[in-house]
Amino acid sequence: MKQFFFGILLAISLGSAALAQQAPKKPKLVVGIIVDQMRQEYFYRFADRFGEGGFKRFTQQGFMMTNGHYNYIPTYTGPGHASVYTGATPSTHGVIGNNWYVPSLKKMIYCAEDSLVSNVGGTPDNGKISPRNLLTTTITDELRLSTGKRSKVVGIAIKDRGASFPAGHTGDAYWYDDANGDWMTSTYYKQTLPSWVVNFNEKKRPDHYLSQTWKTLFPVETYVNSLPDHNDFESPFIGKDSPSFPYDLTALKAANGGYGLVPSTPFGNSLTLDFAYAALEGEKLGLGEVTDFLAISFSSPDYIGHRFGPSSVEVEDNYLRMDRELAQFFTYLDQKLGKGEYLVFISADHAVADVPQYMMNERIPAGNFNSGMVLGQLKGFATTHYGEGDWILSFSNEQIFLNHALIREKKVDAEKMQRDLANFVLGFAGVKEAYTASDLRKQEFTQSRAHLLQMGYNHKASGDVLLALEPAWLVGGKRGTTHGSGYSYDTHVPIAFYGWGIKAGKSSSYASVTDIAPTLAALLQIRMPNGTTGQPIQAVIGN
Ligand SMILES: [Zn+2]
Repeated sequence: MKQFFFGILLAISLGSAALAQQAPKKPKLVVGIIVDQMRQEYFYRFADRFGEGGFKRFTQQGFMMTNGHYNYIPTYTGPGHASVYTGATPSTHGVIGNNWYVPSLKKMIYCAEDSLVSNVGGTPDNGKISPRNLLTTTITDELRLSTGKRSKVVGIAIKDRGASFPAGHTGDAYWYDDANGDWMTSTYYKQTLPSWVVNFNEKKRPDHYLSQTWKTLFPVETYVNSLPDHNDFESPFIGKDSPSFPYDLTALKAANGGYGLVPSTPFGNSLTLDFAYAALEGEKLGLGEVTDFLAISFSSPDYIGHRFGPSSVEVEDNYLRMDRELAQFFTYLDQKLGKGEYLVFISADHAVADVPQYMMNERIPAGNFNSGMVLGQLKGFATTHYGEGDWILSFSNEQIFLNHALIREKKVDAEKMQRDLANFVLGFAGVKEAYTASDLRKQEFTQSRAHLLQMGYNHKASGDVLLALEPAWLVGGKRGTTHGSGYSYDTHVPIAFYGWGIKAGKSSSYASVTDIAPTLAALLQIRMPNGTTGQPIQAVIGN
């Protein structure tokens, strides 16, 4: 009898050993790279001066979806990071803007703010950060949950929202404190800073970068795919008359935010990678028994792009420098983990519009939308037609928020009021379409701007009337630019994979950024995030 049991046990243990051998091999590490404000076209426009080991790893050795887009409005940083990592749009994950109006609080809130937590390291004003407003799991959460939380997840970015949403609810997040130059976290994540973060901060890397001068990598006259270095569409730094090279950071720092100046230059990318190396070493990422995840977001390209516009020498130089630094980073990972042992994806949280004034100078229809003026007119219209009262609580993210308490008190037909205001606002130059919340709740739109607005529309948090502006119209001044629309210049972003499990190739089939997380889930053989609306990209994962 004893022998019989022993035999069964032997068979079971042999069976599980065989199973363990057959268990799918997984990557040691996933590296998620989000480049804040990167257009897909930058892969091509700057390619002749890219090296072999940086961005070209994605275009030549990786798999690139050349027609990858954001599939909702508004295209901002908070929603962008949330959407890539949840595989869902703001209608599901709840991050409907960088900031949005909350009627019950009668104020705007910040997407990553959390009054219940406080700073760990850094300064108090920059520490009330967590992913509390994110309503669904991320791919990084699912990785942690699938391994009994043995997988380590670290999210890093200069912008706190670029670190906290990718790290999900269960990972660690670190961001840059522009008040004192340190990397920090909050009590949501940790009660004290790990020693590797303390050691990193002691090196004072931001002081090193603030002693540098930003010069072009190549002679400035060779940046022929960009506008002349000195043009009328860029906003100069404070204390420098012209928006042109070189930029002496020592001279500029006092008037331009001190430590806050670093993020506005390519040295912000260098600093982010410095911290990424420290995280890899400090947390021993990729060296454990299960897959780890390092989520990096490069915030500086966004600051540079806003100030100088996508056709500037500054933006081109930023990408040429990033290419070289990414090449070094991948070489480091090759040596540390082995080529083909780690999986990387690259995307952006949104792209960007050209400077409207530049478009107008080229006789392309464009404009600056004066939202303050329009809000005044909307308020006047509402009181004229519905009587005295504070009918409009907010006009933000191109959405009108009505005063529903007053609507109930005065027994006004809310749907009619939405419709009246939508029709009225269509009369302003720059407004292309206006949809009411009632429209978006009653029917499902499958294409065009109504679909994009609906995917960004959250029943509990969004406004009463949602506008879409004309192409190349945006809220802003005469210099510099922004993003937020559903047009291709804002939605068309990199979606590319490289490394473990990825064959070289490309596809021009449509893909959305919400397909990235389910594609990773398929590759890693783990659950998709719990609000996922995207699909695994078949061209990337095979059949
Ligand atoms: Zn931006």
